[in-house]
Amino acid sequence: MSYQPIVKPPAASMPFGPNLVDYDQARADLGWTDFAAEINGLPGGGLNISYEALDRHLATPIKNKVAIFWEGQDETSETYTFAELARLTDRLAGALRALGVTKGDRVFTYMGRTPELYIALLAVPKAGGIIGPLFAAFGPDAVKDRLLDSQAKVLFTTPTLMKNIRPIIPELPDLKTIVIVNRRGKPYEFGDREKAFDQIMADGSDDFEIEPTDAEDFCIMHYTSGTTGKPKGVVHAHQAVVGHHATARHVLDLHPEDVYWCTADPGWVTGTSYGIFGPLAGGITQVVYEGGFSASRWYKVIDKYRVTAWYTAPTAIRMLMKAGEEVVQKYDLSSLRYMCSVGEPLNPEAIVWGQKAFGLPFHDNWWQTETGCIQIANYPIMDIRPGSMGRPFPGVTAAILNETFERELPPGEEGHLALKPPWPSMFRTYWGRQDLYDSRFVNGWYITGDKARMDEDGYFWFVGRADDVINTAGHLVGPFEVESALVEHPAVAEAGVIGVPDDLAMELVKAFVSLKDGYEPSDQLKKDIRIFAKKKLHALSCPREIEFLPGLPKTRSGKIMRRLLKARELGLPEGDTSTLEE
Ligand code: ATP
Ligand code: MG
Repeated sequence: MSYQPIVKPPAASMPFGPNLVDYDQARADLGWTDFAAEINGLPGGGLNISYEALDRHLATPIKNKVAIFWEGQDETSETYTFAELARLTDRLAGALRALGVTKGDRVFTYMGRTPELYIALLAVPKAGGIIGPLFAAFGPDAVKDRLLDSQAKVLFTTPTLMKNIRPIIPELPDLKTIVIVNRRGKPYEFGDREKAFDQIMADGSDDFEIEPTDAEDFCIMHYTSGTTGKPKGVVHAHQAVVGHHATARHVLDLHPEDVYWCTADPGWVTGTSYGIFGPLAGGITQVVYEGGFSASRWYKVIDKYRVTAWYTAPTAIRMLMKAGEEVVQKYDLSSLRYMCSVGEPLNPEAIVWGQKAFGLPFHDNWWQTETGCIQIANYPIMDIRPGSMGRPFPGVTAAILNETFERELPPGEEGHLALKPPWPSMFRTYWGRQDLYDSRFVNGWYITGDKARMDEDGYFWFVGRADDVINTAGHLVGPFEVESALVEHPAVAEAGVIGVPDDLAMELVKAFVSLKDGYEPSDQLKKDIRIFAKKKLHALSCPREIEFLPGLPKTRSGKIMRRLLKARELGLPEGDTSTLEE
């Protein structure tokens, strides 16, 4: 497969002068110490992530700027300035302190994307606590696992979601308080440990002194997406904000004039690093949309708020592609100027489609819950090589290591993607699993668990999760290249590729495919897709078998769960399915 590079004009001719003007020079000149100098630190010493997101702007004109345009699912809307958020989070942080929250306590949220969620997630670090955001769509077992594992002391949730919490309360001795957010005023009977959000806010005071936290104190705990196995509790420190801020500025290219929209829920790390802290620390106005995915509703949000910068994920882009260009035509999306994607490999076809549909390419970038912020990226000024994750962020050292992690491999060779520690937003531990954490650092490298290769010009290309790479007759096949070839077929909406055991070849490539609207599964279509794939792939990479599924199993953050496809195929136990999207 070869796609023409998307060539960028010179920086000087770009309408919004890009923040990163010269990649090579930035790599030579800039590092984390320079980026750390762009944040303030607490007036009395130390560092607090929420102070950087809100309070530090109070001495500047950003104070009265809109921080969040909130768009409800029912099309109601609310607007919060930086000053208002600073005040509301002070009140709530004071209330949390009064409830006994002290430095290091875990405070979890289990609720939809309403303003109270954002207020809670910003207030907890001010009181010195550690936030743990959970998807509202999680079932009771997923929530119980995480509250137990983290020994959470406080939980924010809603009357509706309490039905999942009530039965597990007896099993959660550490959970001292449940704060009920009842925004729509449902009749509700409070239980023993429960408090009303509105009441504790009303009882609180605007007078609050932020906990004097240190750069290394913990403030965020995120369970990973669960794509490859049981989710791990990844812990970050306050200085992660250095990475959030620097990458929001230089990768997402956020400017003071932007209206930015990150579609991710804070239950996924993208929704906090880039849906809360990164943009707020930069004084950027952002949109929060309460509802879930809908092509027309999403376009309406962009149209209504004149969104200029947009950060989304391949799964969403594939769904937009599925909905088609006709939907795009119904809205005025001319405000859009810059688009980025993260979470899974971005199929070249999706980049090409973006150009057709919006007149703009999606810029892929790579990172993990563990890395806390973007590590490898495409930038406004850099030509895009479709299918590549781009080049390392200034300050990041990335390499491709051999199987034993002892040697860096030369350009063109596939191996383990590794990063040189430390960096400000690097995770500090897996909660309660220090051994596992330690095992991820080998010979002075952090081993990411992904396989990739680097080309002669330093662009990185994703191959697959180390566990997902298929060995067929001695030929190593990354699922990504096969899936990308399959989604180029006009009938294919999504594809998930696995290796199935074979006596002769060790493994054979099998593809699970879901179809676009208007296409029906048939043997003829299977054949047609195989012939199509054969033209694009090495003969051994071409799927031996294709199976149609109405949809592919995905995590809450929208990632295809290949391990589940494989377990189901082989009749093996499914393992942890707590993050499975129904
Ligand atoms: P778990 O660790 O529980 O299996 P997960 O790895 O999916 O879940 P995240 O931390 O949300 O949890 O995802 C990070 C992973 O997502 C990366 O290691 C990589 O495999 C994949 N990923 C993220 N961005 C990209 C990208 N731009 N291209 C390819 N893969 C990506
Ligand atoms: Mg992972």
